[in-house]
Amino acid sequence: MKAEAPNKIIKERNDYILIKQESKNRSIKCDSDSIAGSVSQRACVYCGARVVLNPITDAWHIVHGPIGCASYTWDIRGSLSSGPEIYRNSFSTDLGEEEVIFGGEKKLERSIDEIIKANRDNPPPVIFVYATCIIGVIGDDIEAVCKKVQTKHNIKVVPVKSPGFAGNKSAGYKAACNALLELMDKNTSNMGSNSLNILGDFNLAGEMWIIKKYLSLFNINVCSQFTGDSRCRDIKKAASARLNIVQCAGSMTYLAKKMRALYGIPFINVSFFGVEDTKESLLKIADVMCGEDTVKKVYFYLRKMEKEANERLKKYKCRLAGKKAAIYVGGGFKAISLVKQFKSLGIKTVVVGTQTGKKEEYESMGDLTDAGTVILDDSNPFELEKFIVKTGAHILVGGVKERPLAYKLGIAFCDHNHERKHPLAGFEGAVNFAKEIDSSINSPVWNLLGAGQQ
Ligand code: SF4
Repeated sequence: MKAEAPNKIIKERNDYILIKQESKNRSIKCDSDSIAGSVSQRACVYCGARVVLNPITDAWHIVHGPIGCASYTWDIRGSLSSGPEIYRNSFSTDLGEEEVIFGGEKKLERSIDEIIKANRDNPPPVIFVYATCIIGVIGDDIEAVCKKVQTKHNIKVVPVKSPGFAGNKSAGYKAACNALLELMDKNTSNMGSNSLNILGDFNLAGEMWIIKKYLSLFNINVCSQFTGDSRCRDIKKAASARLNIVQCAGSMTYLAKKMRALYGIPFINVSFFGVEDTKESLLKIADVMCGEDTVKKVYFYLRKMEKEANERLKKYKCRLAGKKAAIYVGGGFKAISLVKQFKSLGIKTVVVGTQTGKKEEYESMGDLTDAGTVILDDSNPFELEKFIVKTGAHILVGGVKERPLAYKLGIAFCDHNHERKHPLAGFEGAVNFAKEIDSSINSPVWNLLGAGQQ
């Protein structure tokens, strides 16, 4: 593809679009607020905070704002729980005109009182109170209200400072991480600890359980998990872990850095998407957490699992070789894993983009892809459509917002986000992924549409 100005309508967007050339590329602009006029695929600050905190299964989540903010994020994560289901509710203060004019603090206090009264027999350990756009505009002091009700009811009430317009989705991640830090017991020691914290896995379709199963085989204990299938009491003791492993780097690197500074806990980046990354990640963890004998056991186990998975992947590789993929996901680390996973299946990535990727992550994507690959930061439907059509991608991998785009274009789609029902992590997940890509790309329905099978 020619290195032309890719977005002729909103020229400022061109800095956020990179078409990989054989020669040295310029670097892509990223990690900044969306350009006005571009209908970004990114969620708002509040939504960024909510997706990180929502999987804490025994917490109440109260959204201080108009009802729409709460309904749009109701049960948003699709993350599974092995116990409480409280997190699947969505409480809202349902602000109206009166509160917008005269302030909503009293209504917030009344709302918290009301749900505590209604659940007197089963009070939650923590209540999160999210600030939405309008709260930033009218200036409610949610921190003061949270403090007041916390004292009144003797229940931890944590303000999440996330007015939707106050930055981009990454600011919401930060607000969520700050709320998590507030829950941690600061007087815990991690001397002699043999446990780790899992950061950035949200237990979609039970993926946290797969990771924990691998770790348990080598007697590595999990102290806290952020935040898939997590409980407030576990988050409280997070500072007693010896290591933090970070899967979703976009949402959790800030927390990992904070915990390193505050509690001296080091962190490593991991990914359990794809055979190669799962193997590498388990080895990295074993190197830090295990003695020599256990590391040997890990090697042996991984060799066996890799062999089995590759055997099962063979039939899909034959059916997928030569296909082209477009990827548009939340964070850079996942996008990198997907590029590698596609490569291992014989599929070429022709478009790859993220909502919140970092410069180094885009550099890795550039290193892993061929000349002509389109790399996008904070894209919009117009650009995605244009590049999917231009590159002839057969499948789009993304989330709920990208699904209709793929189907309207008559190409296959794979949900790698909130709504999927089967795990895509670990060795078994790698096989599920190939199976899903195959059944979607090679579905006969595309022949009926006369598209998608180029
Ligand atoms: S916080 Fe603002 S941008 Fe986010 S859903 Fe609510 S109104 Fe919309």
